Amino acid sequence: MRERNPGLPPASAGVHPGYNDRNKHLERKRVKPAPFDYAKARSVEHAVELLGREGARVLAGGQSLIATLNMRLSSPSLLVDINAIAGLDRIARRNGHVEIGALVRHAQAERSADLAQAAPLIARALPHIGHPAIRNRGTIGGSIAFADPAAELPACLLALNGEIDIAGPAGPRTVKADDFFHGLFETALGPHDVLTAIRLPAATHEARVGFAELARRHGDYAMVGLAAAAHANGTKLNDVRLAYFGVGARPVRARGAEAALADGDVDAAVNALAGDLDPPDDVQATGGVKKHLAGVLLRRVAQQLSEAPQ
Ligand code: FAD
Repeated sequence: MRERNPGLPPASAGVHPGYNDRNKHLERKRVKPAPFDYAKARSVEHAVELLGREGARVLAGGQSLIATLNMRLSSPSLLVDINAIAGLDRIARRNGHVEIGALVRHAQAERSADLAQAAPLIARALPHIGHPAIRNRGTIGGSIAFADPAAELPACLLALNGEIDIAGPAGPRTVKADDFFHGLFETALGPHDVLTAIRLPAATHEARVGFAELARRHGDYAMVGLAAAAHANGTKLNDVRLAYFGVGARPVRARGAEAALADGDVDAAVNALAGDLDPPDDVQATGGVKKHLAGVLLRRVAQQLSEAPQ
């Protein structure tokens, strides 16, 4: 095998080139995805090693990746399956934070009473992601790593001032959500990196959250959405963070509106969106419509932020 394809990692690395080699005749018969090799990573370190191969890509829940393969929008040379790595599917509370492993499925998170208490914003957002079949397989890490600009969880992570744990060839590192989302499907992840977990401050008694989105049908990607977090200080709000999704190439903080909301002025916050957001037209709506909807969502979310949790 190594003679035929010297670029492959050693067989001990667990790469199975069978798909590539056995199915070349099928390729000619137009199999949906382009040929690829497959390897099951035994550990995070093993996954990072496998990702050292040119054109390798992580496979998590496969809910986004497999569609892009089938449509030939991407053609990785090797899929590195991380599903069997132990310990990445846990939700844990540590030092005032809640840590969600990369392989925690959306449905698993949705069922977690601990998560609902420690991260109520995530709990509110999860039912809006796709449909039950997608949430059964899709992972939290996959959603953050894929970074679809209309996805719910990247915006929630940004609103909550969360962090992302990454393992790479130079070892582990942590990136703040503010620095993680770079552009359209572009993040701080390098081609040899594995996202291992996200970390959020656990909600305190003063924590306030708000979430709203507008989608044509429940479960569709949102036309516009808003995830928000703040801390109540008497009747005032401190540390207001508003993260919009579906309004640009990545989740966008509305900093002018955040300041106005902290001053208790909802009308001024809605007016400030004119300077905060510049959504492009897309297949869902024009930029002008999106901007109007962003104001509608802000009024709803401002109301939620003013309410103490039940
Ligand atoms: P995969 O598909 O396996 O991977 C996606 C990408 O992320 C790949 O490039 C992969 O290499 C990379 N990746 C995955 N995990 C890691 C990791 N740990 N480290 C490094 N890179 C990694 N999402 C929403 O947010 N909102 C929706 O409304 C929504 N609706 C959907 C509707 C449909 C019909 C479908 C098919 C999907 C929808 N999704 C939606 C996407 C869904 O949430 C996906 O599960 C998620 O975006 C990707 O997670 P995954 O585990 O399936 O990742």
